[in-house]
Amino acid sequence: MEHFDVVIVGARCAGSPLATMLARRGLRVCLLDRSVFPSETLSTHVIQPSGVAILDRLGMLDTIVAAGAVPLTRFTFVAEDARIDTTFEAEAFGGPALCIRRVALDHLLVEAAAAAGAEVRTDTAATALLREDGRVTGVETKQGQLGARLVVGADGRTSTVANAVGASEYNVAPPSRMFAWAYFEGVHNPEGRLRLGALGELTFVASPTDAGLYMAAVCPPLEIKDAFLADREANFMAGLDTWPELADLLSGAARVGPVRVLASWHGYFREAVGPGWVLLGDAGHFKDPSPAQGIADALRQAERLADSIAAGLNGGAGIDDELRRWWRWRDEDGYEMHWFATDMGATGSPPIATQFARDLAADDQATEQLLRVLNHDIRPSQLFTLRRLGMAVVRAARDHPSQIPAMAKEAALELRNEVRRSRQRPDRTSTTERLLLALTVIGFVVPNVCVGLYLADEGFAIGGYFSLWTASTPSTQLLLDLGIAALAFFIWAAVEGPRARIRRWWLCIPATLLVGLCFGLPLFLLMRERTLASPQPG
Ligand SMILES: Cc1cc2nc3c(=O)[nH]c(=O)nc-3n(C[C@H](O)[C@H](O)[C@H](O)COP(=O)(O)OP(=O)(O)OC[C@H]3O[C@@H](n4cnc5c(N)ncnc54)[C@H](O)[C@@H]3O)c2cc1C
Repeated sequence: MEHFDVVIVGARCAGSPLATMLARRGLRVCLLDRSVFPSETLSTHVIQPSGVAILDRLGMLDTIVAAGAVPLTRFTFVAEDARIDTTFEAEAFGGPALCIRRVALDHLLVEAAAAAGAEVRTDTAATALLREDGRVTGVETKQGQLGARLVVGADGRTSTVANAVGASEYNVAPPSRMFAWAYFEGVHNPEGRLRLGALGELTFVASPTDAGLYMAAVCPPLEIKDAFLADREANFMAGLDTWPELADLLSGAARVGPVRVLASWHGYFREAVGPGWVLLGDAGHFKDPSPAQGIADALRQAERLADSIAAGLNGGAGIDDELRRWWRWRDEDGYEMHWFATDMGATGSPPIATQFARDLAADDQATEQLLRVLNHDIRPSQLFTLRRLGMAVVRAARDHPSQIPAMAKEAALELRNEVRRSRQRPDRTSTTERLLLALTVIGFVVPNVCVGLYLADEGFAIGGYFSLWTASTPSTQLLLDLGIAALAFFIWAAVEGPRARIRRWWLCIPATLLVGLCFGLPLFLLMRERTLASPQPG
């Protein structure tokens, strides 16, 4: 059987960049995909500037632009009568967003992985996982077995790896819309503008893309899926006509190829890490595609994961600890955007949300913040502040009093959603952390109570207190026992603290000297446990 450090299943925008990054770090990587590239996949292809920056760091930006990727320097967002027209300012975003069909992008990513030294095997499906003592040790393919110290499932929403390890789902979001899109040629003004729209029951995504094509998507509510699919081409074109500026842009252009459709999906996070395996990209987390995040997410996750894998396989805190920490980072990184995307794709024209869009359009600073949210620079909660939401409610009630009942319904629904979402959010405080926290508190309280009792009885005779430590042979033995144990602990803490990157690890030394080993030791172990389980800085 062939052996690799890492076998990556799935070679698109999650798997290939990871393979490139790991191969460049000198790891033996096998990248496999059941497809043969160039190969299409369901996507509307917009890459946020933060994702473009990662492609740049990979050294691939020039190649991707040379392959025809269209820089998107302008952005239009329309929600009913609210309209935002703005630009991706180069100083603020480091550069434009890009749009390039996945059939072109993914091929370039696979080629880059091969050039970096990864063993690339296309037309090779992973069919099962190999295991030893409960640990994943490789993959089974029709062409044979591949051994690995780590298996990465970057194999998309229907991930074979996730199924094989039984990764459970959480933060599940039911779908609201289906996505239907097609390419056009001969668009008379293919400026680099990304258009997002929400008009009536439809939402829209539209952008020029490579090969001189223009991509336009119509997203109807899932309730009308059957009716829409009964005559998808006519309904798609009729849908485009309901956004007049898009219809105008496409007038005279010819549709190329079929209308593609995604009608079956849901949003989720999956358990991301286990012994010998990790899930990357859509395999571990998928959200409503409305805000066009998945490609940049996959690239950002890959960049972080490459650091964790390299540190874990080359020593560090150990691969399992490094991966657990990455998992926590991934969840924190994606949590707010996941629900923002769900809300963005929700059906209907809720009056408070529409007023919020009007308010954004009237406020340049808020408009820039919206772009920053889409670019993953700031969290949605930094845009949707209580003050802005309150103002939107007041303005909507003032300007559209007839909509007050609908606003009350919208607010109640939002509240219900918030409660349901916070209940679903997994509490990752481990039992070990809870026990260590309890011991740290007890270890602080007990010695201080003892000292307090002594001082209450004897007055402030602190010298007498210390002399009692050596008053008998058993107490001297206990003192030496604790002293030697504390010394061993300090030596270990001085090695383990920096190695496990525990911030302020040295606090355990004064904590031990001033209070006791019963405080300093559990405190250090607690800090260590939290550090290993929490996202890496930077
Ligand atoms: C309709 C739609 C529109 C979207 N629009 C955008 C957008 O505009 N911008 C954006 O950023 N994101 C968008 N996304 C999301 C984005 O496409 C995904 O997040 C992204 O493709 C995830 O990449 P991935 O590499 O994780 O998975 P995928 O792209 O799904 O790749 C998985 C790969 O794994 C391979 N594979 C699967 N199983 C096996 C197996 N057993 N053995 C070997 N290989 C296997 C598959 O062949 C595939 O090549 C959209 C998604 C959809 C569905």
